[in-house]
Amino acid sequence: MLIKDITEQKKNLEEVIRLNEKLQSLAMKDWLTQSYNRYFFDERLEQEIERIGKLQACGAEAKNSEYKFGLIMFDIDYFKMYNDLNGHQAGDELLQTIVNVVKEVLFFNDILCRYGGEEFAVICCNTPVKGVEIAAEKIRKTVEEYEFKYQDAQPDGNLTISVGAAYCESSCLKKDDLIRKADQNLYLAKNTGRNKVVFM
Ligand code: GH3
Ligand code: MG
Ligand code: MG
Repeated sequence: MLIKDITEQKKNLEEVIRLNEKLQSLAMKDWLTQSYNRYFFDERLEQEIERIGKLQACGAEAKNSEYKFGLIMFDIDYFKMYNDLNGHQAGDELLQTIVNVVKEVLFFNDILCRYGGEEFAVICCNTPVKGVEIAAEKIRKTVEEYEFKYQDAQPDGNLTISVGAAYCESSCLKKDDLIRKADQNLYLAKNTGRNKVVFM
């Protein structure tokens, strides 16, 4: 009888743990792509900015031994055309594939989030400027080289993304300023030919 009770309790506990994990994932992740959601993005970005603020208050030694961080934003080129030609279900699948393909090349301290519709953001935590530049180009190139379903019908027969990046300098210690800078660079990439990285 007792053993049966304990077994039952263990099963219930396991179920509670499973449901808790599911709830946690629902709160943090985008349901379609399983990348982090906008809520999580905002939280983590604020935490990183707070970390940099504290770092600046430290002595020179601590300051020099830690990196700041970068923000990369990317947007799929001609995605409306992809949806129009292949249907929204194919468009949804493409979003999922892009997330999986990009995740593969990121470092463990990079946080990939769905910023909105077909626009994504990567927070490169504790990374030097050069590292952010390399990561941005790696993301662009990975998408350029991957053979996506139906990509032949896209302009130039290829599915590509445009990328904008910004580094958290002292002048960018407000979340909105950093996002605006990365976004402006993304739109510069769009307006100067697409399938490129702008980081300045
Ligand atoms: P550009 O190269 O300038 O970025 O052009 P675009 O066509 O990618 O951009 P536009 O803003 O004109 O269109 C974005 C499209 O993204 C339109 C919308 O239908 C699609 N979209 C946004 N969210 C989703 C989604 O969750 N699933 C699917 N399938 N499509 C989405
Ligand atoms: Mg687009
Ligand atoms: Mg867009």
